[in-house]
Amino acid sequence: MNNLVPAGFAGPGGWAAGLRALGLTPAELSSPRLAPERVERRFMKMVRMTPACWEWSGARTARGYGRVRIGRREFGAHRVALVVATGKPLGDGAHACHACDTPPCVNPGHLFHGDAKVNALDMISKGRRVITPCVGENNGQSKLTEADVRWMRAHPEVDHSSVASALGVSVSLVRQVRRGVGWRWVA
Ligand SMILES: [Zn+2]
Repeated sequence: MNNLVPAGFAGPGGWAAGLRALGLTPAELSSPRLAPERVERRFMKMVRMTPACWEWSGARTARGYGRVRIGRREFGAHRVALVVATGKPLGDGAHACHACDTPPCVNPGHLFHGDAKVNALDMISKGRRVITPCVGENNGQSKLTEADVRWMRAHPEVDHSSVASALGVSVSLVRQVRRGVGWRWVA
């Protein structure tokens, strides 16, 4: 299965940088048991690749997200894939969103940082739904911008839940804004 891993899955620093970005402790990072190549091998063994999605075959949450234990902590498998692929940490409130609407997918090419609103809006406006992953991880703290509000009103064809998911806000907020209950001052 490893021979199917596209070159460049891991970011510039490889899995070593990915593990640092995941926030492993110095003790964990120096443990032979958690050597980057071992973690990578263990991770990739659980990945069933198709030409599109990479399905996580290990433990999953009730919502279908892959779970993987690295050191003393358990991570969302899709979050690990995104962090390793980009070499960039995901903050506590940050989402790893799926462009493919497939929670167990760990294909980094299908994942994007949840604060990349522009990408998300771009995708749903092209008819690609961005739903499930961000709903499950929504921390309810995201704020709308005026540009978001204009966009959601200009695209009534995109359903409430897709917009809510892409922007990291609740469906009821989207409904209110579209009805003009909130954000009246935005033309
Ligand atoms: Zn996918």
